[in-house]
Amino acid sequence: MATVRASCPDCGDVEISTDDVQVRVCVETSVGSYAFRCPVCRAPVAKHAEAGIVHLLVSSGSPLTMWRLPAELSEAHRGPALTHDDLLAFHHLLETDGWFAGVAAMVKG
Ligand SMILES: [Zn+2]
Repeated sequence: MATVRASCPDCGDVEISTDDVQVRVCVETSVGSYAFRCPVCRAPVAKHAEAGIVHLLVSSGSPLTMWRLPAELSEAHRGPALTHDDLLAFHHLLETDGWFAGVAAMVKG
């Protein structure tokens, strides 16, 4: 397995095995990224990757995951946008007994 040099925000340059680097590419946008756990501080690190870097890592043994944007992005959204007040009211609702029945009653019909 090949070794590559990557950069940890806290430790600087570190060397990692390519099989410890996960490569991800979005099917719809072709935007790539890679992620690894720093071998020194164990922090997770994720970075944007141009196509050349994606190709280099995958051809050197890094596992590739193709992922899709969530289907919700293409759904039509009706009604007013959620506000901070809505979110706070929902938070308070979740602290009450029987909150699920209350929420279910709001979305019926
Ligand atoms: Zn580190």
